[in-house]
Amino acid sequence: MIPAIRGTHDILPGEIERWQHAERVIRDVCARYGYREIRTPVIEREELFAKGTGETTDIVQKEMYAFEDKGGERVTLRPEATPSMVRAYVEHALEQALPTVKLFSFGPMFRYERPQKGRYRQFHQLDVEVFGVSDATLDAEVIEMAAALVRGLGIGESELVVNSVGCRDCRPGFGKALLEALGDRRSDLCGNCRRRSETNPLRIFDCKVPACQPIVDALPHSTDYLCDGCREHFAAVTDQLKALDLDHRVSHRLVRGLDYYAKTTFEVLGSALGAQNALLGGGRYDGLVRQLGGPDRAGIGFAAGMERLVLAMPEGPGASTPDAFVVALGEAARPAAHVLARDLRHAGLATLVDYDARSLRAQMKRADRSGARRVLILGDDEIARGEVTVKDMESGEQAAVARAEVVQRVFG
Ligand code: AMP
Repeated sequence: MIPAIRGTHDILPGEIERWQHAERVIRDVCARYGYREIRTPVIEREELFAKGTGETTDIVQKEMYAFEDKGGERVTLRPEATPSMVRAYVEHALEQALPTVKLFSFGPMFRYERPQKGRYRQFHQLDVEVFGVSDATLDAEVIEMAAALVRGLGIGESELVVNSVGCRDCRPGFGKALLEALGDRRSDLCGNCRRRSETNPLRIFDCKVPACQPIVDALPHSTDYLCDGCREHFAAVTDQLKALDLDHRVSHRLVRGLDYYAKTTFEVLGSALGAQNALLGGGRYDGLVRQLGGPDRAGIGFAAGMERLVLAMPEGPGASTPDAFVVALGEAARPAAHVLARDLRHAGLATLVDYDARSLRAQMKRADRSGARRVLILGDDEIARGEVTVKDMESGEQAAVARAEVVQRVFG
């Protein structure tokens, strides 16, 4: 046996129904908020993420499945969707094609992380992005939609956390204030934090090492260092969240692990998930489109982890059961049984049929296990009379029905 690669997983029948249900709910919510679906390749140029996600991020430095292809090009399996969405937006000039560019996408992402519950190396995300709108009402709408998605999936217990990380103008000042506040205590931080304090001090807030916590807790808050524009924007976002009756908590520690965020950041945390409790996260990234070679357009979006959403969902509907199971009695009836199965399927009925010439008992057992509502039995006698014996599996009742009328009479 050659097992699956560590950190990857199969989604098997029995579980896939939960995924399909989640995708249906999400598609429905996206449509109601005006989003259109897009699918981009899972493989992209490595440069897209180095420039987009950011050279100093853990994702780019440590986690990418990057390699040189046979043509000598540096490529990577995508670790996240936003840079690809920006690339597609720019490459196809989507702002000319669509009235408002609101896009969503489902698909696998790849990160070489340490696998644990709720964290995989191949995982799936719903990605939602809006381009070209700077107004704070959109930030609130996007956040409200994220909350609506979680609610729509029946996930009861969750918490919405928001913050503002400032923009290109005010963030450097905040970074400096962080370093000043750290002062000598920098040497007490873990190795990761010390490295972060040199490359991107905001990232220190992501640290989970217990010894760092008292130091991190005493650091200044980004919201105290916002420029006028960012402060007004953030106030407008939180006011609008209140107008939308959306409970939220402002957390100065919510800086998110990616370089491109500006102004609003947010996450929805699930309460029953353990350490990996972020159901979704996102924020505004107003400089990213230009940074990736496009026009100067605003952007905002979020990504939700499908594995975590599915895990947090309550027990949903199970697999659907077949409408009919066709049983052939005797060798001669087998071809006719398959013709009957074809007719039922063409009439829109989910139908199973056996392929090996087994006893009536064995076929009935299999039919029972399949959960089929009705079993249709075809033997030499039935064929001679132009009939089918129909057994209702719930009541156990059995009746002969004319072959030509079986679809109409039994399933009509
Ligand atoms: P990020 O793209 O890191 O902002 O993550 C957005 C969401 O994707 C998170 O809130 C998680 O729900 C999910 N996610 C991120 N990384 C993983 C992973 N390695 N395994 C499973 N889900 C993940």
